[in-house]
Amino acid sequence: MIIILHPDTEKTDPNYLKLTEYLSGLHNITIRTHEEIGTQQILTEIYLIGDTKQLDASIIESFEVVERVVRVSREYRILGRHKDDNRPSHFEYNGVRFGQDTMHVCAGLCAVDTPENVEIMMKTLRDHGLQCTRMGAYKPRTNPYSFQGHGKKCLPYVFELAGKYDIRVIAMEITHDNQIEEIHEALLQAGKPTGVMMQIGTRNIQNFELLKSVGRQKEFPVLLKRGFGITLEESLNAAEYLASEGNRNVIFCLRGMKTNFGDPHRNLVDFAHVPVIKRMTRMPVCIDPSHSVGSRNTSPDQILDLMHATVQGVIAGANMILVDFHPDPGIALIDGPQALRLEELPWFLEDIQIAREAYEMRCKAAAKYI
Ligand code: PEP
Ligand code: MN
Repeated sequence: MIIILHPDTEKTDPNYLKLTEYLSGLHNITIRTHEEIGTQQILTEIYLIGDTKQLDASIIESFEVVERVVRVSREYRILGRHKDDNRPSHFEYNGVRFGQDTMHVCAGLCAVDTPENVEIMMKTLRDHGLQCTRMGAYKPRTNPYSFQGHGKKCLPYVFELAGKYDIRVIAMEITHDNQIEEIHEALLQAGKPTGVMMQIGTRNIQNFELLKSVGRQKEFPVLLKRGFGITLEESLNAAEYLASEGNRNVIFCLRGMKTNFGDPHRNLVDFAHVPVIKRMTRMPVCIDPSHSVGSRNTSPDQILDLMHATVQGVIAGANMILVDFHPDPGIALIDGPQALRLEELPWFLEDIQIAREAYEMRCKAAAKYI
């Protein structure tokens, strides 16, 4: 059960104290309080965990500081979408709003290689009006002898160049909790010219200690990639780990499932799950067509499979697209074969816009018939 208090309720308010006194007298119930400090107001939610079926919501609702009580009707207590639950499904980070109603393209390098390529990438994004990118510094590789990413060495120029070209959010994977501090420190040193969204990759989704560490910090939002070989429920529980530790600014990313049935795609594209995640949770949903499709193959209509997969996600209501680009895919150190070329960016964006408009028309049509 979730008790939502009126905005800006003070902890010293006698009515708040009356409520907490009542709650602490309840048997077999653990209380956890979460505060969301926004720019306009402070929102307080109290989570009651345990045998909540016995509780009478109307009694709790009668306390003056209580705005409303939400009964948790399914799993994922914090990030889940419950019955009559109108808690927000968006958040803001570094001036950019991420929600179940927004759409962002996060195009960039799978792995940072040279400052020149980072600069040309960022400049191209800025020239096309984009504010988000992806930049891999710490790379989880299957083969220990493969390039592991430049790590913290590249952070100073990546952050400085992002600032120079007005890029506000960089999706950057981390593979170890000490990288949280490295990124925090490098951003500080650079004078915070940009922001970072911490990506947790498909391989680390059940690294529970990493999830807890990333969840405990509230500086960076999180982009969590679905596990490629576990159930959706297990992946959503991983997201809930982040929120249960305190960080609920989480975007859930579909990136395809590992199975030979997806051949010749690298993974089996799972973008039909976009509306499913939006129904089950309040998280914005990202799609990663690059790691799903994994090639630059085209169909007889001349359109790349990767673009076909992208618009399938967008027309189903995806809120973000994480996609590999490279100024010269042939020399990319990782995942060159799936990277789009910079000159393909306007085509890619136009394709997305067509699909987004179609999605909006579909929503209008649905509203007409319901
Ligand atoms: C990536 O986005 O660079 C990546 C490694 O993705 P995934 O975790 O989905 O394999
Ligand atoms: Mn990659």
